[in-house]
Amino acid sequence: HALVSKTAKILVVGGGGTIGSSTALHLARRGYTDIRILDVFQIPSGNSAGNDLNKVAGSGRDGVWGQIGQASWEAWKNDPVFCPHCHPTGRIDVASGPDRKADELYAKYQAMLAEGRGDEFEWLDNEEEIVRRAPHLHGAHIQGWKGLWVRESGWVAARDALDSVGHECRRLGVKTAFGSAGTFKSLLLGTDGKTCTGVKATDDTEWPADLVVLAAGAWSPILVDLEGQCVSKCWVFAHIQLSTEEAQHFKGIPTMYHHELGFFIEPQASTGLLKLCNEFPGYTRMAKCHPFGLNRETVLSVPRSHAQHPNDTMPDEALDEIKRLVKICLPHLVGRPLINQSMCWCTDTPDANWLLCEHPRFPKLILATGDSGHSFNTLPVAGGEVVDMIEGKLSEERRQLWRWRPGYGDPKGTGRPGPAPKDLAHVLGWNHDSPR
Ligand code: FAD
Repeated sequence: HALVSKTAKILVVGGGGTIGSSTALHLARRGYTDIRILDVFQIPSGNSAGNDLNKVAGSGRDGVWGQIGQASWEAWKNDPVFCPHCHPTGRIDVASGPDRKADELYAKYQAMLAEGRGDEFEWLDNEEEIVRRAPHLHGAHIQGWKGLWVRESGWVAARDALDSVGHECRRLGVKTAFGSAGTFKSLLLGTDGKTCTGVKATDDTEWPADLVVLAAGAWSPILVDLEGQCVSKCWVFAHIQLSTEEAQHFKGIPTMYHHELGFFIEPQASTGLLKLCNEFPGYTRMAKCHPFGLNRETVLSVPRSHAQHPNDTMPDEALDEIKRLVKICLPHLVGRPLINQSMCWCTDTPDANWLLCEHPRFPKLILATGDSGHSFNTLPVAGGEVVDMIEGKLSEERRQLWRWRPGYGDPKGTGRPGPAPKDLAHVLGWNHDSPR
C-alpha cells in the first residue's frame, strides 16, 4: 500500500529540523531517489527545537513509547551517524518525596523488575543513595528525596547530531532549498482542488512533488489547518559558564530530571557550558494567523523563534525557576550569571502522541508533527516511522495512536491536560524587539 514509488518526487518541509531531517535520512536509506528538504535555515535549522547543546535521551518508558525509546537508544549507541553524539551517562529521575511522583517512580521500578529489567534500574531510597549515583549532588538540598537510576539513558549532543544527519543526507543525494526559496507559503493543489501536488515558497518558487511531508514542528499548525490538534508552546533554557576545573568536576554526571524543578545535563566538554531547564506547562503566544486550508484568519499560538528574534528577553518567572533549580541542586553555583538565555518551540497534541498521517482533506500531504516536547530523543527512528506510514507498514496500534484525531483529548484546546499554559503576553519580563 505504499503511497508513492521509490522514484517519486518527495519534499520534506521542515527538513532542517528533528523529525524532518530524520524523515529525509530514512527515505534516502530506503532507496528513495528524489528527496528535497525545504527549510527556513539549513540543517541544523536555527528555528529547530533540536538546535541546542544537548537533550535528554534514552529508554525507560513502557508501551509503544518504551519501544520507540529503546530502538532510538540502540541507534544512538550504534548507528555511525548518531553514536559520536551519544553520551550514555545514565539518568536519575528524582522526586522530592515521599509524594505522588515518588510513588509513580517506585511503581515504574517495580514494573521494570517484573519485566526482568532489574539490571537497568536501581531504586535510590534516600539522599546517600542518590549522591552515590550523582556525586555532584553532594551538598544539594535533597533531604528526603527519592530517585530512580536509569542505566540505558543519558544525553545527546543535539545540534551536532542534527548536523550529522544533514551531512549524511547530502552524502546520500538529498537535495535542499533554504531561505525564502525553502520557506513554505502554501500548498500547490491538483486539478481536483485537493490533492497536494507541491509547495509554493515565500519567494513564490513552486516546488512540484508527488508527496509532501510537513514536519515543521511548532510552525505546523500555523502553516496548514490541523483543526486544533496541535498547540505550539515555548520553553525556556539558560546556561552557566563553568571553568575548566568546574567542568571537570561535572564530567560524566548522570542527567538529572525532576518533574517540577527541571533538569540539567553534563556540561559540554569543549566549552564548559552547563545547560539548565525549568519544568512547566510552556507558554503560548496567541496571535492572528491564516493556515492553508482554512478560509479565514484565526487566532492560534504562533511561534516566535530566538534565531529570528535574538533580542527577545525571557519571562522573569522562568528565570527565577531556573535559579531555584540551581539553588536546590547546585548551591555552589548560586549567583552565577545565566547566559545564552533562549526559548524553543514545540507543538503539543492533547495525548502527547505524534500526529503522523495523511491529511484527510489534502491527499499526498503527510503530517509528521505533534512532537509534544519529547521527540528529540527519537531523532534516529522518527523518520523511519514516517516512512513506515508512507509505505503502509505501521502496525494497527501505531496507526491508531498517530491518526488524524480532531476533538480528541483536551476540549480547551490548550494542548496537554493539566493547568492551562500562560500566554507570553501575560508574563513579566518577556520583551520583544518589535510590537506585536
Ligand atoms: P523542529 O525540530 O523544531 O523542526 C521544525 C522545522 O520546521 C525547523 O527546522 C523549522 O525551521 C522548520 N520550519 C518552520 N517553518 C517553516 C516553513 N514555513 N517552511 C519550511 N520550514 C519551516 N526532547 C527530548 O527528547 N529530550 C529533551 O531533553 C528535550 N528537551 C527540550 C528542551 C527544551 C527547552 C525544548 C523547547 C524542547 C525539548 N525537547 C526535548 C523537545 C524536542 O526538542 C522536540 O520535541 C523536537 O525537537 C521537535 O522536533 P520537530 O521536528 O517536530 O520540530
